Amino acid sequence: MRPDQGVVMTSANDVDVVVAGAGFSGLYLVHRLREAGFSFRVLESGGDVGGTWYWNRYPGARCDIPTTDYTYSWDPELDREWTWSEKYATQPEILSYAQHVAKKHDMYPHITFNTRVKDAQWDDSTRKWTVRTETGEAITCRHYVMATGCLSVPKDPDIPGTENFAGGVYVTGRWPHEGVDFTGRRVAVIGTGSSGIQSIPLIAEQASQVTVFQRTPNFSVPAFNGPVSEDRKAPLLADRDAYRESAKWTRGGVPLPPSEVSALAVTPEQRREMFEAGWKRGELFSILGIFMDQSTNREANDLVSEMIREKIRATVKDPVTAELLCPKTYPFGTKRPCLDTNYFDTYNKPHVRLVDLNTSPIRTITSDGVTFGDETVQFDDIVYATGFDAMTGAIVSVDITGRNGTTLKKKWEHGPLQYLGLMSTEFPNFFMITGPGSPSVLSNMMVSIEQHVDWVTDTLVHMRDNGLDMIEPTDTAEAGWVRHGAEFADISLMKDTNSWYMGANVPGKPRVMLPYLGGVDGYRRACNEVVERGYLGFSMTGPGGKVCNDGVIRSVQPDVFIVLDMMSQMGLPPMESMTPEGAREFSNASGAMRPPGPEVGEMVDGTLPGADGSPLEYRLYRPATKGPHPVVVYFHGGGWVIGSHVSDEPMVRDLCVRSGAMFVSVNYRHAPEARFPAAAEDGYAALTWVNDHITELGGIPGKIAVAGWSAGGNVAAVAAQLARDNNGPALCGQLLLTPVTDGTKEYPSLSLNGEGYILTKSLMDWFWDNYADRKDRSHPKASPLKAASLAGLPPTTVVTAQFDPLRDEGNAYAEALREAGVKVTHIQAGGHIHTSISMVGVILSGEKHREKMAESIRGFFA
Ligand SMILES: Cc1cc2nc3c(=O)[nH]c(=O)nc-3n(C[C@H](O)[C@H](O)[C@H](O)COP(=O)(O)OP(=O)(O)OC[C@H]3O[C@@H](n4cnc5c(N)ncnc54)[C@H](O)[C@@H]3O)c2cc1C
Repeated sequence: MRPDQGVVMTSANDVDVVVAGAGFSGLYLVHRLREAGFSFRVLESGGDVGGTWYWNRYPGARCDIPTTDYTYSWDPELDREWTWSEKYATQPEILSYAQHVAKKHDMYPHITFNTRVKDAQWDDSTRKWTVRTETGEAITCRHYVMATGCLSVPKDPDIPGTENFAGGVYVTGRWPHEGVDFTGRRVAVIGTGSSGIQSIPLIAEQASQVTVFQRTPNFSVPAFNGPVSEDRKAPLLADRDAYRESAKWTRGGVPLPPSEVSALAVTPEQRREMFEAGWKRGELFSILGIFMDQSTNREANDLVSEMIREKIRATVKDPVTAELLCPKTYPFGTKRPCLDTNYFDTYNKPHVRLVDLNTSPIRTITSDGVTFGDETVQFDDIVYATGFDAMTGAIVSVDITGRNGTTLKKKWEHGPLQYLGLMSTEFPNFFMITGPGSPSVLSNMMVSIEQHVDWVTDTLVHMRDNGLDMIEPTDTAEAGWVRHGAEFADISLMKDTNSWYMGANVPGKPRVMLPYLGGVDGYRRACNEVVERGYLGFSMTGPGGKVCNDGVIRSVQPDVFIVLDMMSQMGLPPMESMTPEGAREFSNASGAMRPPGPEVGEMVDGTLPGADGSPLEYRLYRPATKGPHPVVVYFHGGGWVIGSHVSDEPMVRDLCVRSGAMFVSVNYRHAPEARFPAAAEDGYAALTWVNDHITELGGIPGKIAVAGWSAGGNVAAVAAQLARDNNGPALCGQLLLTPVTDGTKEYPSLSLNGEGYILTKSLMDWFWDNYADRKDRSHPKASPLKAASLAGLPPTTVVTAQFDPLRDEGNAYAEALREAGVKVTHIQAGGHIHTSISMVGVILSGEKHREKMAESIRGFFA
């Protein structure tokens, strides 16, 4: 414990920590830093605590996360001594809660109000920051923490003539403390985001005329506000600690069971029933999570979006206004949805008018009104509800200069480069609370704030305990986290919408997904894991030495991570511990639970003669387009032991639809009943049979290729070699997805990726042992890479996956083919595992690779 603990030092100009901001983040920092015995100063540009709730005093300002959840958890007494009057409390009530906390915990003396931080400069020689304020103070500190808020810098309205207006001008995010009386006045409201939607009904209750200027309509759902319901209070009363703890491990920071129902898998009646139940709850996370796939699947989202539009149409009487208020240009949830009280109903009032800025743009604001479209309307007041420069605005509005004169503004000119949303390279000892790259605005911010403040304070304590005085992320860790964030954005519907989540509301701001989409739970796990793995991705130095444990915390694709995580929690027995029959049963049972893949034109089952004359089943997948079609003879995966002609069906259907080629998927004989070379020879027999019957099957003679995944890739590669060597079918191409190409050698990826990525090294050994004796593995029919020559093989596409034990042998085959003069397309799927690209409808990040595979197939036949 340090002697200065608890000492109030509002005038000290050299402290351990300077904090900018005294909203909920800054206040919790006061608590934690003081408790940990650090000297610190909090500088706040406003005149009191509360941040958001100090500034946003517009009529109707409320939280939109149920207030019982939007509260601190660190002081259990608060839950007992503070009673919220409503499900969604008003701004004054939340502000008084913040003031109550600050008074109760004697925080005021630590905070210097009306003091804006204007710049901060790092000095490498002293290893300290100098923080300067607009009031002329310069404070040196070891650590500088920005708790400056994600929605604290109102966006300047980019409308011509704003300076001309002589009437009342109000910005929702900077509302006058004395309030505004609009009685009898003509009011223009510009903007229909959350603040507009909350304030318009109340402004319309007073004003004689309200004109709302709307650029993009917003999805808004009724809050059904009122007293806090008994069922909301019950879990808190029953076991408050368990409830608060469970919030930390949810996606959004509010305990709600995640939906396990696809919007596409239920009847219209069931869908409607589930929607109405979600709607009635009047909670954002409920309506955002009615169906498990509404945020990732456009079709599922469209169904929900349409049901919300129906509600709007049912409320707004004028059909033209109703249509204008219906969001149609983006999926529900990809812009911040709103909660409202009487918003849509307000447009039924005769003195409320909606102007669509897309058809009637504002040409200029005049001294007494607004000129838009071909009319000018006079107003007494203009309310700008034009939103915020979100997430990065408050941070880059301070001139922050790190090591070697690097400024944060410059470093972030193409988007915020950061690690965990907490720190940024070249800016040692600089922390952000709920910064870009963390769940932040997509969560119940109270939960996210507490997690960040705890992480930062615990880290400072760790450093102090270990004689370390400087911390900075590594380049590798930062690049890895930024890539991980972008990969999440890639598989969400959000990336295509112009929202403030994407920085799209501020002209010139880089278009990057700002919050982290992996959820409060996923994010917390990553942060905890970083610490457990010795501050992975951070370099820390000081008198106590230097620690740098470089690395990337999340390297597999986000959806692959989620699947791996689910599987590890299921504790499944390793397949190699089963009998071959058991493994087949197990694999069939899990296959039955998959999404089926897209509809194809036709599926036909049949048999063809195998190499020993016995019948082999096949399933033909015909595209819906007019035939005849080029033909791909396809061999399934399963280590020569498991699987069948239908086991890869979702992917085969997907490739059939994408490529426009007909697929004939063949069930070759399996080991150990039929060991090497049965599968290889059946593959070639099937290929020749299909080629011989191509016209009857509906294919185009001469347009034939082979394809296969894993062991099926091995069968396909061998079939292509046998066709070349035996004057067989002239193939247009071969597509090999994560193929087995060489059983003679242990490539590094076999051990590097041999554990934890579904296909393990020991499972691969089991497959080989079932299929082929060691002496046979060097035969090119078992290991196509061992062929005397690879010259003369058809154009080849090889797909390898970064975390596949078979990656290196796939790479080696691609390289050897290229060296032999074969035209090779090598798709290297970063962040993928052996199985992930085949998981249609489950692993969305595999889709772009399947699209490239389909493009290759089209190329074979072009
Ligand atoms: C209208 C509105 C409603 C919201 N409703 C919800 C909700 O229901 N649920 C939810 O989870 N979140 C909500 N939010 C998000 C809200 O911002 C957070 O919940 C939370 O209040 C943020 O706390 P904070 O302390 O991190 O930031 P803020 O509350 O924004 O506080 C930051 C403080 O930093 C100060 N500051 C900024 N720059 C400087 C500087 N350079 N120098 C000194 N001081 C500076 C600001 O004056 C401000 O007081 C809402 C936001 C708004 C605008």
